[in-house]
Amino acid sequence: MSSAAKQSHAFDLAQVRKEFPILDQQVHGKPLVFLDSAASSQKPRAVIDAMAEFQRRDYANIHRGVYQLSQRATNAFEAARERVRGFLGAAETREIIFTRGTTEAINLVAATFGRERVGPGDEVLITHMEHHSNIVPWQMLCREKGATLRVVPIDDRGVLDLEALDDLLGARTRILAVTHVSNALGTVNPIAEIVAMAHAKGVPVLVDGAQAAPHMAIDVQELGCDFYAFSSHKVFGPSGVGALYGRAEHLEAMPPYQGGGEMILSVTFDETIYADIPHKFEAGTPDITGVVGLGAALAWVEATGLDAIAEHEHALLAYGTEALSEVAGLRLIGTAPHKAGVLSFVLDSAHAHDIGTILDQEGVAVRTGHHCAQPVMDRFSVPATARASLAAYNDRSDIDALVRALHSVNEMFA
Ligand code: PMP
Repeated sequence: MSSAAKQSHAFDLAQVRKEFPILDQQVHGKPLVFLDSAASSQKPRAVIDAMAEFQRRDYANIHRGVYQLSQRATNAFEAARERVRGFLGAAETREIIFTRGTTEAINLVAATFGRERVGPGDEVLITHMEHHSNIVPWQMLCREKGATLRVVPIDDRGVLDLEALDDLLGARTRILAVTHVSNALGTVNPIAEIVAMAHAKGVPVLVDGAQAAPHMAIDVQELGCDFYAFSSHKVFGPSGVGALYGRAEHLEAMPPYQGGGEMILSVTFDETIYADIPHKFEAGTPDITGVVGLGAALAWVEATGLDAIAEHEHALLAYGTEALSEVAGLRLIGTAPHKAGVLSFVLDSAHAHDIGTILDQEGVAVRTGHHCAQPVMDRFSVPATARASLAAYNDRSDIDALVRALHSVNEMFA
């Protein structure tokens, strides 16, 4: 278990809410009800302060400076890497690569590991519930290589068909890329089981953890996956930064992703010798302050306790599911038995975009649209959904405000 999972905490919701200064405001004259954390979560004071303090006191470029500021900045940057390692339960810090986020992490694997492994006639396997960022890089790779993208189906609840998955894992499957939690449906996939099925057939697995990281304890060694990607901005940290875990043996064998400074040991016009992992994959000056902010965010999550956060959100999801069932003409999209804090729905009375606009007038922020998962919308024959998504700082009054606002949508369109 990762260190976040091992601790047990009392969850003080009122205190947690106070730690997010942005929540204390009104929009359109109504108290802000923020229910769009699956798109991006808000930031606790600990993160805002850590980033400001770092810029005020310790900022310099990292890794190359002999002077004190550069060493302090390097130490802060590398301490964040160690924190990510602990957060993911990885064995070694050199297995953690900083990226711009989940999207870049997946592109990195597709462009290096994928490009080396996949050839004409091969197959890449994904699922029907993937975010576009876990579809398009693989589609591009398949186009380039003359390979085929295969898709594991989901049922009417949004549950992955594991029998079909097993059948689709074939002799030509070179990689399986699967989301841990669906951003459009909330489904939590049984990753350890899926990895075991894939590995039994010699297929490596990349897990898109963008929606899992804020909600549940992750242990990549227990999951057994080969790669795991997540974004800082969904786990209470800044945007523009994220991390990729990769097994050391894969990372060592993979070619670099981008060339440039920081990723080399030596350069002549004839030859470049690459740096060891993880630096081989970190060309150019990174988002130094962002990485420090990510470290502070994970420290906040650990101090709050992912186990306690998960328990709180689970109870809130149950409350929200029940409360939404009382809104006339509402259909939930995504009713898997094992879900994380996503309530995606359509209303008979109004289009998702109209719902979003009216809710905004009531101070309620939800996302509307296809949620970068158009194949999921197609699967459920809807053009778009409205999505309320939960985070550690939400409470029952947020759900109550959502339900009240949905009743007024119904009245308006009656
Ligand atoms: N995968 C999933 C499941 C997501 O929800 C998201 C963000 N909506 C991404 C990938 C992409 O993350 P990012 O935009 O931070 O790279």
